[in-house]
Amino acid sequence: MSEAAASSGEEVLRTDVVIIGAGPVGLFAAFEAGVVGLSCHIVDALEEVGGQCIELYPDKPIFDIPAVPVCTARQLIERLMEQCKPFAPPIHLGQRVMSVERIEQSQRWRVTTERGLVFDTAAVLLSAGNGAFVPQRVGLPEAQALEGRHVHYAVRQRAMFDDRRVVIAGGGDSALDWALALRSGARRVTLVHRRDAFRAADASVQELKRAVAAGELDLVIGTIAALNAPDGVLQSIDVKTIGGGLTIEAEHLIALYGLVADLGPIGQWGLDVRAGRVAVDTSNYETSVPGIFAVGDIAVYPNKQKLILSGFHEASLALRKAYTYAFPDKKRVHVHSSYDPKLSERILGTPATEEAHS
Ligand SMILES: Cc1cc2nc3c(=O)[nH]c(=O)nc-3n(C[C@H](O)[C@H](O)[C@H](O)COP(=O)(O)OP(=O)(O)OC[C@H]3O[C@@H](n4cnc5c(N)ncnc54)[C@H](O)[C@@H]3O)c2cc1C
Repeated sequence: MSEAAASSGEEVLRTDVVIIGAGPVGLFAAFEAGVVGLSCHIVDALEEVGGQCIELYPDKPIFDIPAVPVCTARQLIERLMEQCKPFAPPIHLGQRVMSVERIEQSQRWRVTTERGLVFDTAAVLLSAGNGAFVPQRVGLPEAQALEGRHVHYAVRQRAMFDDRRVVIAGGGDSALDWALALRSGARRVTLVHRRDAFRAADASVQELKRAVAAGELDLVIGTIAALNAPDGVLQSIDVKTIGGGLTIEAEHLIALYGLVADLGPIGQWGLDVRAGRVAVDTSNYETSVPGIFAVGDIAVYPNKQKLILSGFHEASLALRKAYTYAFPDKKRVHVHSSYDPKLSERILGTPATEEAHS
């Protein structure tokens, strides 16, 4: 444990590897960590595992995963979750990893998240894709000071909108779903979207149109122009429309414009970052900092292909090197999974057969 952690009395989670990013590559890395004999924790900024597969194309078919002729991106993530289940890797969602620092006088790393989790780990595996997915924020200077109290980028406590006037901004599934869901508890819901077309499920669009026609909620086509919050308390929102503008009385703005990827704190960890990617040694996918590895879309090297299968291979080699940091005095003997009794016992509940490995 670091001196700082020990003196502050915070709980420190000790592990062999912290995997940053629960996209397809991070999930496979958790399985591989188990195969190699390493414990791990996974952290992701999103509330859900799956990275780009779940955020960007959950229902699209994928054709180039070995031995899986076709599956949707969501099915791939479900299968990866099933595959790593025997090792039960703890997964910490909804929090970005903010810092990775060398623990004084040791070869280990202290990793902290924005919700205050602290890890003491032998190695760090970055499978962070394009960076953390974070909500696209309202581009008005007054919005930041209102965040959490009057301006929101997700609905965490639905009850806070009960009997309040709520403006929801956006035209995707989340915006429509929440506009329709909150209309029953809120005093009034207004959906503001920049155009009269939506990027949402057809059923939701039809239900929205019906609800607007029935007077259950309001729809305004325009863009948020100003937040009027005298003394830091939101009272109304100016909306610019094609015809001019209008002011909507509201105590809350929920902006659901979608997510953007942001490399964020990773850029400050002393790694060799090139155009938003982390340079690695292709013999083991270690970065320029020993003990920190980068795999999947975030890794860059000559002829890098941003493919899920490339990430799987990278994770497999990185974890074998990570083992040498976790167990510097042990020599790991490679055994094929088909002949690994410990693996067989963990996954099937039965030891492998005694046949010779030819
Ligand atoms: C539309 C589309 C179709 C595609 N089709 C295919 C295909 O058919 N076949 C194929 O092989 N590839 C395909 N790809 C590419 C593939 O999805 C990516 O190569 C893959 O998702 C990369 O996986 P990853 O785990 O490296 O990163 P990601 O999937 O990007 O996951 C990274 C995760 O890290 C998290 N993260 C980042 N920074 C932090 C931080 N500081 N703290 C905590 N969490 C953090 C992010 O929130 C994210 O969840 C497609 C991509 C798109 C956009």
